[in-house]
Amino acid sequence: MTFKYSQASLTRLATVHPDMQRVARRALELSPVDFSITQGKRTLDEQKRLYGKGRTAAQCRAAGVPESYAQPSAAKVTWTLNSNHLSGNAVDVAPFVNGKLEYDDSGKLGLWPKIAKAFKDAANELGVSIEWGGDWTKTKDRPHFELVR
Ligand SMILES: [Zn+2]
Repeated sequence: MTFKYSQASLTRLATVHPDMQRVARRALELSPVDFSITQGKRTLDEQKRLYGKGRTAAQCRAAGVPESYAQPSAAKVTWTLNSNHLSGNAVDVAPFVNGKLEYDDSGKLGLWPKIAKAFKDAANELGVSIEWGGDWTKTKDRPHFELVR
């Protein structure tokens, strides 16, 4: 099975470091599961908006984030303002199943380990060091892959 990135995925991929682009391209060739690139490089303002999700105005203010970005009732999506997405060293992906993104939050479909293996194999093959957010012990971030610098 060979999958192809959509134009939207390619546009996002083009914003990140060339090594991450190579790994992500090879990963899709190796992966038994189709996936999309959902996020590439972010601006600081985009990161601040994400930081506001799941945080109160006071928490935003304490972190130097505009209070208007606070969305305390939303789910938290990021743990830092110092994301590797800012430097273009990270991508987020999502499994693409039956024409839609399938985050497989329960893990029942077993999609993430397959995608992660494809990324790791691609990185090994290309001699690039990467980390998968799904391997992090404190807070797992399964859609996230970043270059180790
Ligand atoms: Zn990420």
